[in-house]
Amino acid sequence: MSKTDKTFNVDLIKVGDLSFSKFIDAADIEIKVQEIADSIREDYHEKHPMFLVVMNGAFIFAADMIRKLDFPCELNFVRIKSYHGTETTGKVDIYMPPNLNLQNRHLIIVEDIIDTGNTMAAFIPELKLHKPASLAITSILVKPEAHLHDFITDYPGFIIPNKFVVGYGLDYDGMGRNLKDLYQLSMT
Ligand code: 5GP
Ligand code: MG
Repeated sequence: MSKTDKTFNVDLIKVGDLSFSKFIDAADIEIKVQEIADSIREDYHEKHPMFLVVMNGAFIFAADMIRKLDFPCELNFVRIKSYHGTETTGKVDIYMPPNLNLQNRHLIIVEDIIDTGNTMAAFIPELKLHKPASLAITSILVKPEAHLHDFITDYPGFIIPNKFVVGYGLDYDGMGRNLKDLYQLSMT
C-alpha cells in the first residue's frame, strides 16, 4: 500500500451513504477541551455549577470536559427536540429531569454544536423561568455563518465553517458518534 493509499483510508470515510473527510484530529480536540475546562475552572471553581448536557450529541464532550474539572459540580441531561418546519418559529419540546431545582444555581449548558441557534434561542428563556443565579453556554463547535440569532457562546470550542460534521458525539442519521476525530462532509 502506498503512502497515498494509507492517507486516503484514514482521512476519507463513509458514514451511511455520505463521504466525510478528516477535519479535526482527536489530539487537537483534547487540547481544546482542556482550554475550555481551564476557562470554566477559573470562573466557576467556587460556584458549584450545574451542567445541563444536551442529548445526544454533547455526551462525549461533556464526559471529557467534566473529567478535567477538579471542583464540586453537578450534571444533568436534557433533551431538546426541535421542529424543522417551513416556519422558523423556533418551537421546541424540552425534556428535563423532574424535580430538578435550578433556582439560584449557576447553570452551564453543554452543547455539541451551535448551528442556527434555534435550540438555544428556545431553551434559554425556558431556563430563565427557573430563576438561575447565572446561565452560560459551552459548545465544542460553533458555526457563526449559520446563526439566526444574536447570542454568545460563552465558552466556544472550534469556530467552523457552515458544513455538516460528524464524530466526537455528533451523528449522521444516528451513526458516526463513536468516531474519535471530527469529520466534515466531503464534496468528492
Ligand atoms: P441549532 O441549529 O438549533 O443550533 O442546532 C440543533 C442541533 O442540530 C445541534 O445541537 C446538533 O445536534 C444538530 N446539528 C447542527 N449542525 C450539525 C452538524 O454539522 N452535524 C451534526 N451531526 N449535527 C448538527
Ligand atoms: Mg446538540
